[in-house]
Amino acid sequence: MTFHCTACGEEHEGLPDVGMWAPDPYLSVPEDERAARTTLTQDRCTVRDEDGLHYFVRGVIFIPIHGQDEPFGLGVWVSQSRANYERYERNEEMAPTFGWLVNRIAHYAEDTFLLKTRVHFHEGTSRPTIELEPTAHPLAIDQRCGISLARAWQIVHRYSPN
Ligand SMILES: [Zn+2]
Repeated sequence: MTFHCTACGEEHEGLPDVGMWAPDPYLSVPEDERAARTTLTQDRCTVRDEDGLHYFVRGVIFIPIHGQDEPFGLGVWVSQSRANYERYERNEEMAPTFGWLVNRIAHYAEDTFLLKTRVHFHEGTSRPTIELEPTAHPLAIDQRCGISLARAWQIVHRYSPN
């Protein structure tokens, strides 16, 4: 399906998923300290600070797109307890867990950092899916009510300039 994008004026096919490559607490560690204080893979991250070690996992916020079956996937990081982080690392079957969203998503004027979420884990290699607490935050409303394809492309363009 070709879509004429009002954000950039071009024609687009298939909406890509976008994601944050690291949690904000990782990014706030000075680069020359990261080797000593952090670990980072595509799915998991730890950050050590004066309070101890903090655990983060990468998941996906799926946002329905109006008039389209496929949702938009926004890759973000959430905090986890040490116990749940280690269960996930061992690929154990897991009930949904609590997590704080630890990315500021630039598209949203209202801060998304430390929104409350419920994290759903899945068997196999698919990433955990993240359900926002059903508040009046615009991101939570978008997840409940969906957004237009044009809005989704605005978010995509925040993370890739084309
Ligand atoms: Zn565009």
